[in-house]
Amino acid sequence: MSPERPIATAPRPAAPPLDVGRIRADFPILERRVHGKPLVYLDSAASAQKPRPVLDAMDRAYETSYANVHRGVHRLAEEATKAYEGARLRVARFLGAGDASEIVFVRGTTEGINLVARTYGARHLGPGDEVLLTGMEHHSNIVPWQFLCERKGGHLRVVPVLDDGTLDLEAYERLLGERTRIVAVSHVSNVLGTVNPIREIVAAAHRRGVPVLVDGAQAVPRMPVDVRALDCDFYVFSGHKAYGPTGIGALYGKASLLGAMPPWQGGGEMILSVTFEKSTFKPAPHRFEAGTPDIVGAIGLGAALDYLEGIGLEAIDAHERSLLARATEAIASIPRVRVLGTAPGKAGVLSFVVEGVHAHDVGTVLDLQGIAVRAGHHCAQPLMDRFGVPATARASFGLYNLPEEADALAEGLRKVIEVFGG
Ligand code: PMP
Repeated sequence: MSPERPIATAPRPAAPPLDVGRIRADFPILERRVHGKPLVYLDSAASAQKPRPVLDAMDRAYETSYANVHRGVHRLAEEATKAYEGARLRVARFLGAGDASEIVFVRGTTEGINLVARTYGARHLGPGDEVLLTGMEHHSNIVPWQFLCERKGGHLRVVPVLDDGTLDLEAYERLLGERTRIVAVSHVSNVLGTVNPIREIVAAAHRRGVPVLVDGAQAVPRMPVDVRALDCDFYVFSGHKAYGPTGIGALYGKASLLGAMPPWQGGGEMILSVTFEKSTFKPAPHRFEAGTPDIVGAIGLGAALDYLEGIGLEAIDAHERSLLARATEAIASIPRVRVLGTAPGKAGVLSFVVEGVHAHDVGTVLDLQGIAVRAGHHCAQPLMDRFGVPATARASFGLYNLPEEADALAEGLRKVIEVFGG
């Protein structure tokens, strides 16, 4: 081997730290004050704020190149179609998909999962068949499968969550059975921050010929995702959590699966021909996009993904993990505070309970200090039951958060303890 060649085992260079000061200047909303205090926004897992390039891309689309897509022959329609389809290509590249036709625009994660349950699921689930989920799923990755099971006489099976917030993978292997028709699992838990071992989960399912849908709502904004490396069959995410607009998200599906799935919603844009006797449908992805889509939303999503890539997903991941570590350490010394989810390598989501204080009260006292956290069941009631709590407070970090904001959370919690008796 020549001495110039890199050594294969050399560690990957650490991602350069983010220039958070510069990044924050891109987010006009971060200049706001709340209750007279500077806003400390720790609710990005619910929805992330939008940077100027996303807002500008959407304004520009409406101001200069707006028309309906696909059907028009005029110049603006052509420009709008090019921008909309360009955004599809952008999403495909971002996720590492093989082809843009594997990307379906949807309203968000919820709609993407409903689409798969209603089409792939309806075709493949029969009486007595099973859908395998996990105990940490968001309601949007439970209820559509429940609907499907009710319609088809199938059953849900659930992989248990261990005390540290990781999945019981031995139980997973046992639960993958003869009757499993699909596995649906979150990439990153929106409550525990657990990053699930998707590659292993997919490999085990594929050994039994079972496809896997991954809910990537919390992964796409904060870590590199490569659907071909994961080898998952479906992957869904929401634009609004990835610094893009609301109302748009994407479903990735392997071409072989999407191509064999029936349409779900009928209407314009998705047909080849219509007579009163019979209609025929376009190939994927257009057969799944009935009606006028969220054209400018897709353009905004494309801009958001450009923005994320411009900063670098590895750097974002490293940044959020360092904020998480700082906040976790800072709140560890506060009496009566208990963190839910201690999985190794967890992502920037920090759920906790304050003994004797309801999560809503925690959230309200923090809000009075300008600190925005989420409080409630986080659309994961089965997980709340698993941990024996009705609700938690949750701080979640984004690429624009400062180390001082992790400290502010701890300060805020000390105030909560003061208000509710120390
Ligand atoms: N899955 C996870 C893990 C989530 O965090 C969320 C949003 N809280 C969803 C699904 C649903 O996303 P949306 O409401 O954008 O469809």
